[in-house]
Amino acid sequence: MKYIILIFFLFSSSCCYSAWHQKQFEVMGTIAKVEFESDDEKLATKLIEQVVAEMHRIDHLMSPYKEDSELSKINNLAGKYPVKISDEMFNLLKVSLYYSELTSGAFDISFSSVGYLYDYRNSKKPTEDQKQSLVEQINFRNIHLNDTDKSVKFDSQQLKIDLGGIAKGHAVDRCIEILRKQGVKNAFVSAGGDSQVVGKKNDRLWYIGIRHPRDDKKLIVNLPLEEVSISTSGDYERFFIQDGIRYHHIIDPKTGDSARDSQSVTILAPSSTMADALSTSVFILGAIRGLALINEIPQTSAIIIDNRGMLHYSNDLVSPK
Ligand code: ADP
Ligand code: MG
Repeated sequence: MKYIILIFFLFSSSCCYSAWHQKQFEVMGTIAKVEFESDDEKLATKLIEQVVAEMHRIDHLMSPYKEDSELSKINNLAGKYPVKISDEMFNLLKVSLYYSELTSGAFDISFSSVGYLYDYRNSKKPTEDQKQSLVEQINFRNIHLNDTDKSVKFDSQQLKIDLGGIAKGHAVDRCIEILRKQGVKNAFVSAGGDSQVVGKKNDRLWYIGIRHPRDDKKLIVNLPLEEVSISTSGDYERFFIQDGIRYHHIIDPKTGDSARDSQSVTILAPSSTMADALSTSVFILGAIRGLALINEIPQTSAIIIDNRGMLHYSNDLVSPK
């Protein structure tokens, strides 16, 4: 009897679970991960190569740190004259402006007009004078997109843009698309705090944890997920502390200073581009205005840890009493 059970177990485990493939790599200043199920070894190897190449391609296009990126070209020239850009860049700029309107200006890629003066690794920030003189440059309405010739023009030469609040989500969406097109049914792709899950993990839901913002060994919740994108923005990702004040990488466009109302915001949404833009936005808006916004957007949820460490959930996550 024992042997029959053993043979059945061996048979069932080899027949019903095909192979999982995964790779972790550095890109966009963070760690990316891809994991998926496929019986076809050759295809799996090819897909991993394609995903890695896609993330690096987007990094090359959108990095503010690479002199020859399309984003650097825009920052150098669009203050002087209209610059023709790739369709992909044009579309992501358009989506970025859409989220600026939707979030009453909390999401604003021109935050970088002041934001570029922060250097979190070397504990550097703009002086009060620099901040005061440049904060008025932060205004998404001074970025103009021309649909006819696919060009971008800024109203000022001091305006700078940065796609750090949305590019990783875009990259995750593109990589999931690559996997889906090749028939992959169960997959996970992440870039830093932006992840998307497709299907299941060995017939079970995927689990993604939200870490405690002040203790990286503790989880606040471990969420069971299916067919969804999830993005977390936290003030612990890139920061330094000076005179007891935490300076971090999410900038309030109104002040040019780090946003002060949240410690961590997690958004669940149908796409990673959306989850990424909204997690940055809700972080800036804070719990009250952020939840009011998320409760209005269908298929979107939020888990917010405010600046006192209190948890807040969107209405759909609160169980009825
Ligand atoms: P990450 O995954 O890099 O932690 P987040 O989604 O939390 O990214 O967004 C933080 C990044 O968004 C910053 O590093 C910066 O590039 C960009 N950012 C900061 N403030 C804003 C803002 N007000 N609007 C749009 N993007 C922003
Ligand atoms: Mg974001």
